[in-house]
Amino acid sequence: MRFAARLLSATLLVLLLGLVVLLWTADRLLRRDLERDMAVTLERQAVLIREAVPSEPAQAQQQLHQMAAQAGLRITLIAPDGTVVAESDYATYPLPPLQNHADRPEVREALQGRTGVARRQSETVGRALLYVAIPGGPGVVRVASDLSQVNALVRRAQLAVATAALVALLIGTLASLITARSIARPLTALGAAARAIAAGDRPRFPRSGIPDIDALVQTLRDMHHQLADRFDALRHGQAESAALVEAMVEGVLAADGKGRILTANSAARRLLGYRPEEALPDLQELFRVKGARDVVSQVTQGVVVEGRELELDGRMLLVSARPLNSGGAVLVLHDVTDVRRLEAVRRDFVANVSHELKTPLTSIAGYAETLVSDRPDEVTSGRFLEIILGNARRMQHLVDDLLDLSRIESGRWQPRKEPVDIAEVAREAWAPLAERAAQRHMELSVDVDNDASVVPADPEGLRQVLTNLFDNALRYAPAGGTVAVHTARQEGGLAVMVSDSGPGIPHEHLSRVFERFYRVDTSRSREEGGTGLGLAIVRHLVEAHGGTVRAESEVGEGTTITCWFPPT
Ligand code: ADP
Repeated sequence: MRFAARLLSATLLVLLLGLVVLLWTADRLLRRDLERDMAVTLERQAVLIREAVPSEPAQAQQQLHQMAAQAGLRITLIAPDGTVVAESDYATYPLPPLQNHADRPEVREALQGRTGVARRQSETVGRALLYVAIPGGPGVVRVASDLSQVNALVRRAQLAVATAALVALLIGTLASLITARSIARPLTALGAAARAIAAGDRPRFPRSGIPDIDALVQTLRDMHHQLADRFDALRHGQAESAALVEAMVEGVLAADGKGRILTANSAARRLLGYRPEEALPDLQELFRVKGARDVVSQVTQGVVVEGRELELDGRMLLVSARPLNSGGAVLVLHDVTDVRRLEAVRRDFVANVSHELKTPLTSIAGYAETLVSDRPDEVTSGRFLEIILGNARRMQHLVDDLLDLSRIESGRWQPRKEPVDIAEVAREAWAPLAERAAQRHMELSVDVDNDASVVPADPEGLRQVLTNLFDNALRYAPAGGTVAVHTARQEGGLAVMVSDSGPGIPHEHLSRVFERFYRVDTSRSREEGGTGLGLAIVRHLVEAHGGTVRAESEVGEGTTITCWFPPT
């Protein structure tokens, strides 16, 4: 039942109970008082009658009849033995035989010399009467009056009380209705405010004017503010954590106890090949690789997995997994592809350098040993010493190239850019090679347009780039060929192209010739005195300028190496 209805029904019940009690009390008390008054009056009248009634029975009978008719009473004279001497109800004398009245309580009292009062239904007249009997006359004088008057009075009084009570009931109902509403309305509004808080909406707090309810409202308002503050702090913290996880280079995945993915940062999506908005399958179906599935099954059984290296779609991933107390799991994917590649590069580099040094060193050691032990003739010794010198130069060449490469790679060398005339630098770079070129009947052709003749570059760096490219062209192109330098404006920068009419480089090698120690034909390169580092140095020098390198070639038709330099 609602609060207002309850309050109303309780008030009505109380008012109704009050009314019943009031009516009952009115009946009892009023009747008692009225009857008492009536008894006093009747007693006084009985005394008067006792004095006025003649002793002769016939006369007494007649007088009694008249007096009773005037006063509206019933008067009875009773002998000490209970016999009725005179009775006002009868007009004539003698009386018909009447019941003996000695056993009537009021008569009994009066016969003992006291005033007797009794209230009962008269057997003679059939109505409720009040009897008062006093000693005197022939024995007892008894006066009786009809109680209907008293009843009428009591009923009138009850009616008045009932009317008043009804009015009170109406007013009470109205008052309790207003009160109930004034209490219930703010309470209902308070309930709505509490529901709004629970739903995360903005609550509207009521103002009741009732101090107790206002205190409750204030408490709820304070609670709401505290909750809002805590939620804010929580949201803030959550947003920070989410941003942190999102910004992580490592892929982070969190799943609940049923394997549903709750969090997957962009790195995780990228590593697993899912688009940002794409729905992720459950953890159990997330990986296609068996090793990764094993990690998932272990972590879902509560086992911590630390850094397991797996290959996933060509990438090397270090996968760590940790079960959560709540039943889910967190997986961290660390992409170590680059690290592993660099490790491999380093390993290969050491192996390559060792190998490159080993060949001339073995040769030097062999010839030196023969010189020491066999002491060959002068001509042979001279030949051996030349071989030793050649190998030593080759080693020096290699070490020089390695030092250059390391200087550029480490960032210690920075290009000092200035406008450089390409044709001039090309001729400078060609000069030391000119004798070798002449022996092979090869010529340099420089074809540079006026609007593409100057490049913003480090002059020394550019000279070395061109030297290396000319050196390759001289080594690989057959005798009588040409080496040409062209330039062109490209993408806002300037492209310098060195072409030769050599054997070319097969397509499958083109992308790799700029790697250190990468050779298309290892023995030929060594024979020609190459270190396998020439193009790697070219690439690093150009990239240090912010530029790019590209090799284009058709087997049998020649090779063009393009170095693109950005505008300043
Ligand atoms: P190398 O010292 O062996 O020439 P480079 O780094 O200069 O090392 O070149 C890498 C490889 O690319 C060479 O071994 C060669 O096989 C190939 N190459 C470079 N330039 C040319 C060219 N102009 N014509 C044909 N092949 C070339």
